[in-house]
Parts: sequence; C-alpha cells; structure tokens
Amino acid sequence: MPQGEKIAHLLSEMVRIPSVTPAQAGPRSGTPGEAKMTQWVTQQLQSLGAQVHHQEVLPGRHNVFGLFHGQSNKWLGVDVHMDTVGVEQMQGDPFDGRIENDRVYGRGSVDTKATLAVCLNLLQNHPNKPLPHNLLIAATCDEEDAARGASAMARWLKDRNMVIDELAVAEPTLCAPIHGHKGVMRQKYRIQGVAAHSSRPELGKNTITAAAKLALAFDAENHRLNQLTPTPLGHGTLTVTTIHGGVGINVVPDATEFTIDRRVVPGESAEKLADQCLQLARRSTELPVEAENYLMIDAFYRPTQDDFIQRMAQWSGQSPATVPYCTNAWAYTPATARQCLIIGPGSIDQAHGAVEWVEIAQLQKLSDLYTRWWEIKP
Ligand SMILES: [Zn+2]
Repeated sequence: MPQGEKIAHLLSEMVRIPSVTPAQAGPRSGTPGEAKMTQWVTQQLQSLGAQVHHQEVLPGRHNVFGLFHGQSNKWLGVDVHMDTVGVEQMQGDPFDGRIENDRVYGRGSVDTKATLAVCLNLLQNHPNKPLPHNLLIAATCDEEDAARGASAMARWLKDRNMVIDELAVAEPTLCAPIHGHKGVMRQKYRIQGVAAHSSRPELGKNTITAAAKLALAFDAENHRLNQLTPTPLGHGTLTVTTIHGGVGINVVPDATEFTIDRRVVPGESAEKLADQCLQLARRSTELPVEAENYLMIDAFYRPTQDDFIQRMAQWSGQSPATVPYCTNAWAYTPATARQCLIIGPGSIDQAHGAVEWVEIAQLQKLSDLYTRWWEIKP
C-alpha cells in the first residue's frame, strides 16, 4: 500500500474517535474531551516502543508525551493537539472518517490529527530501530479552547530541564513553515453601579454611561497602538466586542458587562496587557470595575534566518510566512524550544467548517518533509 494511503487509514481511524473540546460540545459531539484519544495514542506510542508520560492539564484532560531515544543528543519534537472544534455546524456524520476523492473527511482530519497520523506511520515503518535523533511526540489537549495544553507542556519541559532543539507545532499550513502569529488577550469587565427610578437619575449610578466612557477610552488606545512603529507582525489592536447592560426602560442600569479582544504583538506580554487594560478601565470611570481574564496568549515570532525554518522552507519549496490565527506555538520560548515553527498538511480553509477534509497528497508531502527532518531512510 502506498504510504499516503496507510497514513489516510490511520487518520480515518483517529477521526472516528470523537475529541471535541468540552467548551464546544453539543448533542452531536459524542463523549467530549480528549480521553478516548489519549487512550488510543498511548497504546500506539507504547506499541512503538516509546516511553510514555501523561500530564493532567485539566480534570480528566491530559497531554500525552511519547519519548523515543535516538543516536544523537539532539531533541526533535512535535506538538500536535488532539482536541477538535465542535461539530454541530457540520453536514453529515462528522466522525465517519471516509476516504473519498483522494481525501480524508471528518472533524479533526485537517485540524490536526493529520500530523499525528504522519508521525505514527513513520514510526511504524521503523520498528525496533533507534532513530538518528531523540524524538518527543507530544499529543496535547485544549488547543481549541484556551491552549492550556501547550503552556502545561512548556512547564513539563522546564521541570525536566529539557530543551527541544527543533519543535514543530502542527496546524494546517499546506506544509509551509510558519514563523509568527499574533497573540490574544481577552477580558470581560463588570461595572457596578446603583439602580434608581429613571425619573430621578441623580439617585443612581449609571453603568451604561460608564461603559460608554470605557469603550471610548479603549478605542483611543487602539488608535494610539495604530500610530506606533509596526512590529514584524504589524500593530497590536484593541476592540470592544460585546456589551450587555440594563434591566428596564425606566431603570438606571446598575450593572454592565463588556468584553474586549486585544491582539498581542512581539515584545508585549498578554499578562501585563491584562493589568494595563484594567487600569485604563478603572481610570475611565469612578464606578468599581472588575475584570475576568479569558485568554492570555503571547505572540509567537521566530526569525526566518533560523536554520530549522530555512531547511523546512527549502524542502517544502515554500517561503516562511506568518498567519492571522493563534496556535500552541505561543507557549514555547527559546528556553523550552531553541527553534520552533508551525507546519502541517492541508489548509486552514478546511478547518472548523461544515465540511472538513485533507488531501492524501498533503499527508504524503508532510511525510516526505518529516522523513528528511528526522533523517530517517524512506
Ligand atoms: Zn488546530
């Protein structure tokens, strides 16, 4: 059987194991979470001779690490997330994993079980033989929600004083090496006021008026960001995205909530921005403001001169590029991954939609790239 077809069958088997990220679970999701995939991946890695570790990231949700000891001191690594987005919007059976028209269909096929299938197939082709280099296959959880699997993996590496020399983070990039993307920080604010009859507004404290001042302050901040010298990933942005407040047409509103989305560029820290945004909110009104942090993801950026990126670009015939979406790569600094890039088969255009698929030719292409990267004989 040609390699592409073998990978396709492995991938199809994985698509049939639902692993919808719990925050997006619905009536069609099957059992939500990564538990069944965790079990399946563990069995696969053990049968291939890996040393397997589990890390509980959230209750019942694990990262699976498969370590293969090679013949050099170099550590290569792959971070591939096991969870998928929801399936309620999908046409047909989201988990049938059918192979048709030289494609594999179903949720997770392109985002991003494809890379795991490529890795397992390559390892199956090399039974009982040490690889030229050490290899870590990290099957991570929670990427589609808050990417907490990746930050947990970075902690796991630090705790072991383990530094990956070359780490590939799996996402559909049409096998082009990606060296940067913005991060994101999302916050929800709650402004507390005092309710009163609207005929006597001076007795109340109006939180919608306060929220309007905050929204304008954030808009001014966005304008300021846009005037700064752009980073290699452009400007940071700040957008007010939702607002909810008020209980009746004749009542001074005593509580208003609103959310912001702050895109983070290299040199900024999502955590510090969360503090700064809250301070800005508090300066804009005398009413009490509380914040809840939703997502804290720094930008990912590595220079295109890195030789790992250069090699992948040369082998794939595609220039290093940046992408607009966030990935697990944000969590890895040079302290945990000396060099890091994002690469994977298929297009992001086929991810998260009503129909998801990956071309078998793309699976084959990644397999060829990894064969060169891992320096194994095809
Ligand atoms: Zn993904």
